[in-house]
Amino acid sequence: MALRVLFFLILAQLTYACKEEMINLPALYDQNPETAAIGKTGSNELIILSPLQKKPLSYHIYSSGSDPKHDPYKWTLKGSNNGIDWTVIDERAHQYFCARYQERSYTIQNPKRFDQYLIIAETQNRDTLKIGDIELFSGNTVELWKDFAYPAIQFENKAQNTLGSQQYEELVQNPDNFIRYHAQKVAEILFYTDKDTMNDIQKIAYQLSDYNGISAKSGQPPVVSIVFSTQHIEKSANESLFKLNYETRGVLFHELTHAYQFEPSGIGSYSTNKTFWACIEGLADAVRAEAGFFDINKLRKPGGHWLDGYQTTGFFLQWLTTKDPDAIKKFHLTVRDLPIWSFDMAMKQVFGPDSGIEVLWNEYQNFLNKN
Ligand SMILES: [Zn+2]
Repeated sequence: MALRVLFFLILAQLTYACKEEMINLPALYDQNPETAAIGKTGSNELIILSPLQKKPLSYHIYSSGSDPKHDPYKWTLKGSNNGIDWTVIDERAHQYFCARYQERSYTIQNPKRFDQYLIIAETQNRDTLKIGDIELFSGNTVELWKDFAYPAIQFENKAQNTLGSQQYEELVQNPDNFIRYHAQKVAEILFYTDKDTMNDIQKIAYQLSDYNGISAKSGQPPVVSIVFSTQHIEKSANESLFKLNYETRGVLFHELTHAYQFEPSGIGSYSTNKTFWACIEGLADAVRAEAGFFDINKLRKPGGHWLDGYQTTGFFLQWLTTKDPDAIKKFHLTVRDLPIWSFDMAMKQVFGPDSGIEVLWNEYQNFLNKN
């Protein structure tokens, strides 16, 4: 009798295990890692809605803003055309996220087009699963950038006992991988592939420091140094962890651009020539804007001059991508190639002889005034 009860119990357990319910959590695929899909403990079967008509070749998955113990640690990606038969298209285990709201990208090992997709995922210790976002792509930038030469990172926290340092650690669990990730992302905006000629950055010394300021880069390739202020971290974190995330990544995009960008020729230096300075600081803010770490709709205003540098120049350069998606890359190549660099020559080189800086700047101002 006792044996029979045990048998039924085991059977009931097995049936339950097989009848796992597929859950639809729109926060999983809303392209916003700030909103997390919150699953349950143990294994989760989560539906991914994808508008993709072509076969997906890669996907990205974002960690949430919660404690890392909720991050997905292993998962299986499946596709189906009838909701009954599911084919495994990718499988991962032992995955870690170097920060909160952190993207990781993967090549799909067994790519095939399906009508619907599903991820079966769990955390390392079967805690409640939380995922920031998942998106499938028909392209594959993972392959395009797989040979990117990552710099060595020397991370130093010189502000150990500050609140800003604790807040940084809440956001970033692995600073080395966090900085390396952003170095590649900057290169992806400035260059076409990992085979392009670029500054040979072998080492980045990155320092958290308790001072009144934001961030700064010093040194020249192959070794550059970046300092980030814990006082600035505290100000950003006041609002939310997501705001800190936004600001930390934004500042990093700007400073790392300085490491990878070419310098204009024939016009003096950063400290002696305004055009040189505006080119350098404008491009760094253009890259930050292109990466999505400026609230452009709020910050972009008519007026100013293309030589004003920073956001004024940067937002203009980023706006040029509405005319040509590769405008930032092409602009950056003029910095390398023109013997005597100027904004006017750069614009003409990218957009043709009739499109000098005044023509394009006026067009940009008209656009800003209408919006
Ligand atoms: Zn700068």
